[in-house]
Amino acid sequence: MNKALAAQTETSPFDVESIRKDFPILQREVNGRPLIYLDNGATAQKPKSVIDAIDRYYRDQNSNIHRGVHHLSQLATQAYEDARETVRRFINAGHDYEVLFTRGTTDSINLVAASWGRRFLEPGDEVVISTMEHHSNIVPWQMICDERRAILKVIPIHESGELDMVAFQSLLGDRTRMVAIAHVSNSLGTINPVEDVIRMSHEHGALVLLDGAQCVPHMRVDVKALDVDFYAFSGHKIFGPTGVGILYGKEDLLNNMPPYQGGGDMIKKVTFEKTTYNTLPHKFEAGTPNIVGGIGLAAAIDYVSQFEPRALADHEQDLLDYATEKLQQIPGLKIIGTAEHKASVISFIIEGQHPFDVGTLLDQQGIAVRTGHHCTQPLMDYYHIPGTVRASFAMYNTRADVDILVAALKRALEMLS
Ligand code: PLP
Repeated sequence: MNKALAAQTETSPFDVESIRKDFPILQREVNGRPLIYLDNGATAQKPKSVIDAIDRYYRDQNSNIHRGVHHLSQLATQAYEDARETVRRFINAGHDYEVLFTRGTTDSINLVAASWGRRFLEPGDEVVISTMEHHSNIVPWQMICDERRAILKVIPIHESGELDMVAFQSLLGDRTRMVAIAHVSNSLGTINPVEDVIRMSHEHGALVLLDGAQCVPHMRVDVKALDVDFYAFSGHKIFGPTGVGILYGKEDLLNNMPPYQGGGDMIKKVTFEKTTYNTLPHKFEAGTPNIVGGIGLAAAIDYVSQFEPRALADHEQDLLDYATEKLQQIPGLKIIGTAEHKASVISFIIEGQHPFDVGTLLDQQGIAVRTGHHCTQPLMDYYHIPGTVRASFAMYNTRADVDILVAALKRALEMLS
């Protein structure tokens, strides 16, 4: 077993102060104040081990992969394919060739919509998404439904930000081919009951794609136990680099799908008359991939995997509970998304205040939050709001960060009144 794989089998004690030291950016100041980074839903910060893996690759291993006979090419190919194996173990996929490297969640969903959709969607077929989807899990389905004259249906939600499962049941029918929903909502934090969604969809013969962008940074996912058909996530939200992501797909489904893009690596043989395609996973990985991205993502997974998932979940649950309690004490503040099962994401609005103004005043105090519609405009329309302020926590955040956020919010509101 190589060092990276071995790292996944050992656990380290969960000590937030020592974790913070692993993330160099957390030592910097913003606007003269220590950085309080609460925009992890947009992108997470990178531990030194990821930064070092990227640096090491470019200093020591850089080469193009798969077709080179020379030493460096073999080294880079090995590192890239080891990274695929690291991801496979992380999500418990059955085979490494069911793990495709993509540019990110958006790219993964577009791959399925374009490739599977073009081959299998017939006019009148139905694709089901939900009200709380990120645009990345709306627009690719709209595009392919338009092209194939299929019908896009939307699961309504309750005011709490939970899926209306009764309505979902009634949306499922003979023509449902695909159900594509977020595992965890980026705007609300809702953890969706994906086991039920998968079971109910499969009972109707529909496939399920889960958008795991906001899930994998917070909890372990087992694609085999879930029996999910496709699972998508991004490297940068799980402490890895940008520009790399994963699409997991079941072998038989991927084998029956046409290539997404044409070019190097996805071919077996090319003549002007006919091209035959490579086997999985290469069939879906045209062109030189983000080699260092894959290697950096594996380093990020190794980093996360050193901690007991339970310890990580408990820490984030504590932050969520503490922040919810403290924020609720601010007059006029309303939390958007009050589902029973939530990841450590809190969206809120403050009566009479625009989220941008609040976000700007927090930034002046060194606090990074996200403001706006969070790429979920239909969800904002559902709540009749232009956007929210969103604080999204990661393993390196602390109760002290929450205290500073709350104090800064109070100061911001004084300035705005
Ligand atoms: N899906 C969800 C739930 C997200 O939160 C995001 C990003 O914020 C995406 C999809 C898109 O991810 P990416 O921009 O990394 O492709």
